[in-house]
Amino acid sequence: SSSKLLLLCTLSLSGGGVVAYSEAQVDASKTSVQVNEKDCKKKRVVVLGTGWAGISFLKDLDVSAYDVQVVSPRNYFAFTPLLPSVTCGTVEARSIVEPVRNIIKKRNGEIQFWEAECMKIDAANKKLLCRYTVENNLVGNDEFSLEYDYLVIAVGAQVNTFNTPGVLENCHFLKEVEDAQKIRRTVIDCFEKAVLPGLSEEERRTNLHFVIVGGGPTGVEFAAELHDFVQEDLVNLYPSVKDMVKITVIQSGDHILNMFDERISSFAEQKFQRDGIEVQTGSRVISVSDKEITMKLKAKGEICSVPHGLVVWSTGVETRPFVKDFMGQIGQANRRVLATDEWLRVKGCEDVYALGDCATINQRKVMEDIAAIFKAADKDNSGFLTVEEFKDVIDDILERYPQVEHYLKSKHLRDVTDLMKDSEGNDIDEVDIEGFKLALCQADSQVKNLPATAQVAAQQGAYLSKCFNRKSKWKDNPEGPRRFRGSGRHQFHPFQYKHLGQFAPLGGEQAAAELPGDWVSVGRSTQWLWYSVYASKQVSWRTRVLVVSDWTRRFIFGRDSSRI
Ligand code: FAD
Repeated sequence: SSSKLLLLCTLSLSGGGVVAYSEAQVDASKTSVQVNEKDCKKKRVVVLGTGWAGISFLKDLDVSAYDVQVVSPRNYFAFTPLLPSVTCGTVEARSIVEPVRNIIKKRNGEIQFWEAECMKIDAANKKLLCRYTVENNLVGNDEFSLEYDYLVIAVGAQVNTFNTPGVLENCHFLKEVEDAQKIRRTVIDCFEKAVLPGLSEEERRTNLHFVIVGGGPTGVEFAAELHDFVQEDLVNLYPSVKDMVKITVIQSGDHILNMFDERISSFAEQKFQRDGIEVQTGSRVISVSDKEITMKLKAKGEICSVPHGLVVWSTGVETRPFVKDFMGQIGQANRRVLATDEWLRVKGCEDVYALGDCATINQRKVMEDIAAIFKAADKDNSGFLTVEEFKDVIDDILERYPQVEHYLKSKHLRDVTDLMKDSEGNDIDEVDIEGFKLALCQADSQVKNLPATAQVAAQQGAYLSKCFNRKSKWKDNPEGPRRFRGSGRHQFHPFQYKHLGQFAPLGGEQAAAELPGDWVSVGRSTQWLWYSVYASKQVSWRTRVLVVSDWTRRFIFGRDSSRI
């Protein structure tokens, strides 16, 4: 028999002094509590996640127009680009996080936050099943359900081990603040172990062999940070083992930083060579034990094992299990990440949006349309267009699909402009559009899979909040100003990503940057640019001051090597 308890939860939201009452019903036959039964006319927006995408959505959303609820197992926002600096104590963990409650306070307290994780999305009933991640003794039950009118999924992704044996048990990851803190403690441990009496030289060397799997931006930045920490601080504190330290970066591809311009990639490789950081390319890790890491050398097919003191696994991310389950419900089971349209609406269900690392924009339709535009322009079916016709077609595409501008103006455009030249670089009269279509095929995957970066996530959050703000105004003024009229998705422009550049700090006060317009900048001045950009991008003045003072402290006193 199901008995119902009525629980009056009083949530005192700080700042505006708002006190919200919500009825919570416990159904004894069910396991979960319903916490947000509809008690007002406002539409309920539930946001999952307090990372880059979720927080940037909340920062700009008109919270007075919606009943906004946020669910996240983290009650803070973390500035992930500075996580590698936390691993070596260049900045402190608390300096890069901003409590969600501070952000809510700035929004007049009109947002409810639940420190919990979503476990299941029931798209058919517009309901979520969640579980508190804080210890609670409220009702003796740690599960609750939430209903939504609009759902914003911004839960990021989780580390991908590619099912490599031993990785979960024996490797460190660099995804969360706790991971960075753990790495910092382990690095110090490795040095303390290496100087213990009674060890052979080989054992000391093993303890001081730091291996990074993955030559992407995170792995490379961590290797550079670690090298600086060792050379600037630790060798002076552990002089007896200073010549035994080894840092190795293992990369399955042919180059590190291969998503950057090749000038940056080769600058990084040369810098690492000068610094004594070993870069082992063309190697795929096949297993990791607590003592050894085993890999296959692609070229020779050989298998070799090397002993290690610490392994950091930084090879990419994959979809979280509850999102995979949701993808199964909506017919996206065969996809890698959630597919959305250019308005960030999840394909295959109503009123659900996905942004950031957990989603990708599926633009196959756009690419098909673009191919059709070319076909139409090629009236005599010759496969060639005059340069003027070709330029007109490009202008037409950009006008209709501004979202592909990012690709067409990226480094891949060189393929396209090359089509307007002969092999000696002279201008030609006619363009081979088949060649262009080939370039377009590459564009297809490039445009569809926007990079999984904070930049994309933050821009998507800001874009979606604008759509939501406009949606609420449009609902209130159906006959109102022209700009609020319209229906369906065409009320809004599609999301358009603006690439503002990308940094790769390489240690020794040097960095490389890929800037808009195909500009590449490397060296010390770029490192200062990095300092100023990252200081300016902090989410609050509090974290800005903390980060800058950490950098200053490091310049004056060096990094702290205590194991706390
Ligand atoms: P996240 O920021 O990961 O946020 C996901 C949120 O969802 C978190 O709050 C999490 O707690 C929450 N969540 C998880 N599971 C659940 C659940 N079940 N229910 C509810 N909430 C949940 N990008 C750059 O552009 N530049 C850089 O320099 C850069 N450096 C990086 C360095 C490191 C070490 C790392 C790890 C990443 C870096 N990135 C960088 C990538 C960037 O951090 C991500 O692309 C970005 O965080 C994605 O934002 P997101 O909001 O999608 O996910």
